[in-house]
Amino acid sequence: MIPYSTQCIQEDDIKAVLDALQSPNLTQGKYTQEFEDRLCAYLGVKYALVFNSATSALYSAYQAANIQSTHQVITSPISFVATSNMLLECGALPVFCDVKRDGNINERLLSELITPTTKAIVSVDYAGNSVEADKIREICADKHLTFISDSSHAIGAYYHNRRIGTLADMTIFSFHAIKPITTAEGGALVTDCAEFYEQAKLVRSHGMVKKDLWNSEVTRSGFNFRMTELQAALGISQLKKLDQFLQIREEIAQFYDQAFQGNPYFFTLHQNMPHTTTNHLYPIILAPEFWCAKEEIFKALLQSGLGVQVHYKPIYQFSLYQKLLGDMQLANANDFYRAEISIPCHQKMDLRSAKDCTAKILKVFEKFKACVR
Ligand SMILES: *Cc1c(COP(=O)(O)O)cnc(C)c1O
Repeated sequence: MIPYSTQCIQEDDIKAVLDALQSPNLTQGKYTQEFEDRLCAYLGVKYALVFNSATSALYSAYQAANIQSTHQVITSPISFVATSNMLLECGALPVFCDVKRDGNINERLLSELITPTTKAIVSVDYAGNSVEADKIREICADKHLTFISDSSHAIGAYYHNRRIGTLADMTIFSFHAIKPITTAEGGALVTDCAEFYEQAKLVRSHGMVKKDLWNSEVTRSGFNFRMTELQAALGISQLKKLDQFLQIREEIAQFYDQAFQGNPYFFTLHQNMPHTTTNHLYPIILAPEFWCAKEEIFKALLQSGLGVQVHYKPIYQFSLYQKLLGDMQLANANDFYRAEISIPCHQKMDLRSAKDCTAKILKVFEKFKACVR
């Protein structure tokens, strides 16, 4: 089975982890510090904090932005559920904004969703392709909202000539095993704002600051959301290879764009992406005539050895969210869910395996007739 995405662990990664394992500190040591410094340098940001997951980094960002139970936060329904779940954990109400054809939040719909209790906008760079960050930033500045970017898919991507990580007030990355680079589990929060950095750092580690000798002070409550030194060492090693990984992913994506050009079954998102993406996902978007056969197509793709997946079921369709928000439907998010399948695209593939996947995919689709609508 060739997965839609996977990690790439090489000899130097293994050596890095073994070195950390034999170092004096297994947590809160020099590797964590170095990984954060390198993230700052790579991304061009002032502050970076690494976490044990992107989920805990999101939670800490929301806490740093002081998101509370009296607040609404506008976000995308086309995301992994953690983006919204962490809002619920802060007691806040997620307000879902519909998406565009590329799966990203529709910035033109944001203004009409803003109310006096709106506190923040949380966008998601779907598949690694940046949202229209300048427009969202403008809206946030105008309405005094915090702009938080869940860029879990998007480390190393650009918005025009600017790195993702430098665009929002706070940006979150994931280092989960199958994200562009990995620390097995892990995440990061980056920001240029000292206050957000200080608050998120407190949330990460018990709200505690060290003082003299044995003395310490606790000014707010917090968690243990820290990354281990083993993971940070792996992160340092992986970050060195990120650009190379992204280059391979881009070659595969461009090959697919060509190979699937003009086919009658689906179009591909990548060929129309305006920004330099990470290709964390390579989504194909079925023509409406094939939506009725999506389950059968999906099964046939799995049977032919392709580890396909669907990203994502709109978050408001989960029963938890239906209970909270009632039966809401957003037309484009619903259609996106009906149409999308993520096919294999990752740094362990080469053009030969991409060619093989292409042939298998087209062969599967040939067996399906368009449904009468
Ligand atoms: C993977 C992912 C997360 C959660 O990341 P973890 O590191 O697994 O906690 C959050 N948001 C999005 C969009 C993701 O893809």
